Amino acid sequence: MLPELTEIARQKLKARKTQFFSEYPDVFNKMYHFTRAKTARALRYYPYFLKIQESDTTEVVIDGKKVIMLGSNNYLGLTKHPEILEAGVEAIRRYGSGLTGSRFLNGNMVLHDELEAKLARFVNKEAALVFSTGFGVNLGVIATTAGPGDLLFSDELNHASIVDGARFSRAEIIRFKHNDMKDLEKQLLAADKTKGRFIVTDGVFSMEGDIINLPELVKIADKYGARIMVDDAHSLGVLGPKGNGTAAHFGVTDHVDMIMGTFSKSLACIGGFVAAEEPVIDYLKHHTRTMIFTAALPPSNVAMVSKAVDIVQKEPWRRTKVLENSAYIQKNLKAMGFNIGMSATPVVPVIIGQEMKTFQVWKDLYKEKVYTNPVIAPAVPENRCLLRTSYMATHTKDQLDFCLEKFYKVGKKHGVIT
Ligand code: PMP
Repeated sequence: MLPELTEIARQKLKARKTQFFSEYPDVFNKMYHFTRAKTARALRYYPYFLKIQESDTTEVVIDGKKVIMLGSNNYLGLTKHPEILEAGVEAIRRYGSGLTGSRFLNGNMVLHDELEAKLARFVNKEAALVFSTGFGVNLGVIATTAGPGDLLFSDELNHASIVDGARFSRAEIIRFKHNDMKDLEKQLLAADKTKGRFIVTDGVFSMEGDIINLPELVKIADKYGARIMVDDAHSLGVLGPKGNGTAAHFGVTDHVDMIMGTFSKSLACIGGFVAAEEPVIDYLKHHTRTMIFTAALPPSNVAMVSKAVDIVQKEPWRRTKVLENSAYIQKNLKAMGFNIGMSATPVVPVIIGQEMKTFQVWKDLYKEKVYTNPVIAPAVPENRCLLRTSYMATHTKDQLDFCLEKFYKVGKKHGVIT
């Protein structure tokens, strides 16, 4: 029996007197049959698109109730930094609300170029290119760099934007086992020597919070003539002596050909960039579809990102504190018996296993005023569903202890820990 909504939709289509049902398959069918979210809502286990009413970074208000936020990527707690807000307001007043076009044609401002120069200096590369989203950087840059006839080596846990960029490139995709340098070397050794080789990897993995073994990866890449791109979405502001990312953290910046980063995490805004040698950036600037065919980042956003990059360097206590908070949580969750995988960063997964149990634990934590993100297949393997938790420099010890106490209580109740 189809759900009621399907029946209504059928009636509506019939009323249009089309021949949809009788002659052609309908591309909307999957939508009319999509009941998973409705079932979860009816059972009150639906954890997505929660409506946040207020936010002061570490605490948010939902349904009139204050909860502690362990589900955001605001690692340095900068989203309400007065200097960043002021930079944004000033830019709106001076330059207006938006640029109404692509950078390529009419939307490029001095501000964009200045931010690019600042980012290039920050990550120690010759040049940088700013995009309107981080997703667009990966989608466009990967597809512009590799093409049919090339080989693209991708860690199996890479972010969806890398997976899509790889598909979009039409290069042959070779997935290597997660953070397994032996497997990567084996695959490079076996690969066709006549084809270009491009290795793309997350610096910090977005669901597991572990760090790529970059020193080993660059050795292998150099040995087998492969170019490297590192996605520093979760490393920027967190790893490296100045918060300047994974390559700087390991001291291998000169061996990494492209560094991409997003503005939507530590930098507290939206957008992204790629940094590399000048000729590479100049080529990307004139060929990358996700920059050329989309509107430019508005001036207020550019001004805020630029200020955020200054603050990352001016207030190093934030980096120290977020790492301290993360280490405190990792140590205590482990001591309680939780499986937190290989987390070594502010992204700390709490691995539950089965999907329904993950939702139950999520819901009980939420009732206890702790906000986490349930992650299920296909984002993780079916039997490795988890709660993704992440920490900020601005979480207080009292807040962290409150969350730990609730994790213990709920974890025991559901038999996640004994
Ligand atoms: N790369 C990684 C590793 C990410 O986690 C994300 C966002 N979650 C992106 C790229 C895309 O960035 P943005 O949100 O800026 O589009």
